[in-house]
Amino acid sequence: MKFNEMTYTRPDIDALLARCRELAAKAAAAPDGDALVRLYYEQSEAFAEYNTAANLANIHYTCDTRDAYWKAEQDFFDANGPAVTNASVEISRAFLANPHVDALTAKFGTTCVAGMKNAVLGMDDRTVELQQQFNALVSRYQQIYGGALVELDGKQLTIPQLGPYKEDLDPAVRRAAYEAEAGYFDAHRAELDELYGEIVKNLNAQARVMGYHDYSELSYVRMNRIGYGPEEIRKFRDQVANDVVPQLQKVMALRAKRTGIARPTFTDLPIMFKDGNPKPIPGYKVRMDAARTMYHELSPETAEFIDFMQDNELFDVESRPGKMSGGYMTSLPSYKAPFIFANWNNTSGDVDVLTHECGHAFEGYVAERDPEVPADLECPGMESAEIHSMAMEFLTAPWHHLLFGKDTDKYALLHAEDSFVFLAYGCEVDEFQHIMYQNPDLTPDERNAEWLKLEKKYRPWIDFDNLPFYGRGAGWQRQLHIYECPFYYIDYCLSTMAALQFFLLSLTDHKDAWERYLRLVRRAGTASYTELLETAGLKVPFEEGSIKGIAQQMTDWLENHQV
Ligand SMILES: [Zn+2]
Repeated sequence: MKFNEMTYTRPDIDALLARCRELAAKAAAAPDGDALVRLYYEQSEAFAEYNTAANLANIHYTCDTRDAYWKAEQDFFDANGPAVTNASVEISRAFLANPHVDALTAKFGTTCVAGMKNAVLGMDDRTVELQQQFNALVSRYQQIYGGALVELDGKQLTIPQLGPYKEDLDPAVRRAAYEAEAGYFDAHRAELDELYGEIVKNLNAQARVMGYHDYSELSYVRMNRIGYGPEEIRKFRDQVANDVVPQLQKVMALRAKRTGIARPTFTDLPIMFKDGNPKPIPGYKVRMDAARTMYHELSPETAEFIDFMQDNELFDVESRPGKMSGGYMTSLPSYKAPFIFANWNNTSGDVDVLTHECGHAFEGYVAERDPEVPADLECPGMESAEIHSMAMEFLTAPWHHLLFGKDTDKYALLHAEDSFVFLAYGCEVDEFQHIMYQNPDLTPDERNAEWLKLEKKYRPWIDFDNLPFYGRGAGWQRQLHIYECPFYYIDYCLSTMAALQFFLLSLTDHKDAWERYLRLVRRAGTASYTELLETAGLKVPFEEGSIKGIAQQMTDWLENHQV
C-alpha cells in the first residue's frame, strides 16, 4: 500500500490500557513456559495498531509542522505516550514475576528478559518529580542553544546556519564563524555552567534513590546495555586512546598535506580538501533511480526491499518549508512498512542519510517479515541498531559512483576518514561524562580543565590558537548529547567499530562481507552487541588487542587512497 493511502484513526487509549492490564494479569498467571512464549507474541502484537497510528501521526507532523490537524494528533501522543509506556513496563514486570520466565530466554535469546529487567529497573515512581525537573533543565538548554542567533556576514544566523561558514575555503571566514559561535556561548557562560551542574546533581539524585552510586552506573540500565558494563567500556576507550589515536595523528598529517594547510588550527579541521567537499549528483529522480540500481545489484534481499520502499512511496527526503529538520527511519507495523525521512541539502550528507536510513529500514523490513521475531525484539539496542545503518553506508560503496560521478573517490576518502577520526572524539565525550558524574562537585573551571586534559589524550593534534570558548576548554557545552542524553554518545563508537570492520572485509571480499552483514541483520533484536559481532565473525572491541589491527588497516587504506 502506498504511504498516502494508509488510513489513520486516533487510537482508543482506555481500551489499550485495559488490554495491557489484561495482558499483565495473563503474564503473571501463565501456567507454563509455552503459554508464556505465546503470550509474549500476543503482547508484542497488542501495540501494533497504536504504534502504527503514533508513527503515522509523527511522520505527517514532521513533514509539515504547520498542519494544525497533525499537530493536534502529535500532541495527543505526547500526552498519552507516558501512560502507554508505563502500562507496557507493567506487563514486563508481570512476565518477570512468572516462575517460568526462563522459557523466554530459551526461546528468544539473551536480550528479551534482560531488556525487560532494564525497563523495570530504569523506572521508579520515586524519581518522577526528578525526571520532570530533568526535562525542564533540558528544555532550558534547548532554548539557549536553539534560540541562539549570532551576527555574521551581515546576517542573523542560527548555530546550524553557521555550518557552511565553518567549512568555507577562506580561513578568515571560518575563524569569524567560530568566533561568532564562541561569543554566544561565552555570553551564556554562567547559565550553561549552572545548568550542567544541576543536570549532574539531578541524575545522580535519581541514581541514589534507586540504589546506585551515581548516574554513570544507572545509565547502563537506562541505555539498556546488555552483556557489558563500565569496565568493558573503559577497556574500549583505553584501546582507542592507545591504539587509534597514534594512527589518527598520521591521518591528520596526511590531511594537512592534502589540504595544503601546513599547521592547521582548530578552525581548519572542517577542511578536508583543497577544492571543497565531494558533491553528489543533483536531482531527486536521478538519485532515486541510482538507489534502485544500487540495491538491485547488491543482493536479492535488498532488491525486494528497495522496490517495496519506492513503489509504496515510503520516502520523504527533500527539504521544504515547514518540514522538521534532521533524518530518521520509523516503522508502520500494521503495514510491515518502514518509512524514511530526511532533509537533503545538496551535500554529501544526502547520500550518507540515504544509505544510513536504508540500513535501518532494511533491517526493519527483514525483521517484520520473520514470523519467529516478536515485534518487541525486532530491533536491538542503539549501539547495535547503528551497525545496520553505518555498515550499510560502507557496503553500498561499489555503487556510490552512481551518486557521486567524478567525486566518488573523494567521497570514499571523506567517509572512511570521518568515521575513523570520530572514534577518538566519541570516546572523549564518554570518558568526560564518567568523570563528571563520578565527581559532581567539580567547579566549572575544573570541568573545563578535565575536558582540556581529555583533548590532549584523544585529539592531541588540536591547536585552539586562542579561540575564545573552545580555547578555555568549554567546547563540550555545544555537544547536545552531553546535556540532553548523557552517556548515549558511546553507542556511535561501538557501532562504528563494527562498521569499519565490515568496510575492511568488503575491500577483499565484498560478497563475504555482505553475507556476514545479512547474518547479523537476521538476528534482529534477539542478540546482544557482543553476540551480534560474533555472529558476523567480527572482533569485539572490549577485548584487549582487538582494535590495533583494525586501526592499522584503516590508516593504510587512507594512506593509499589520498586524492
Ligand atoms: Zn541511525
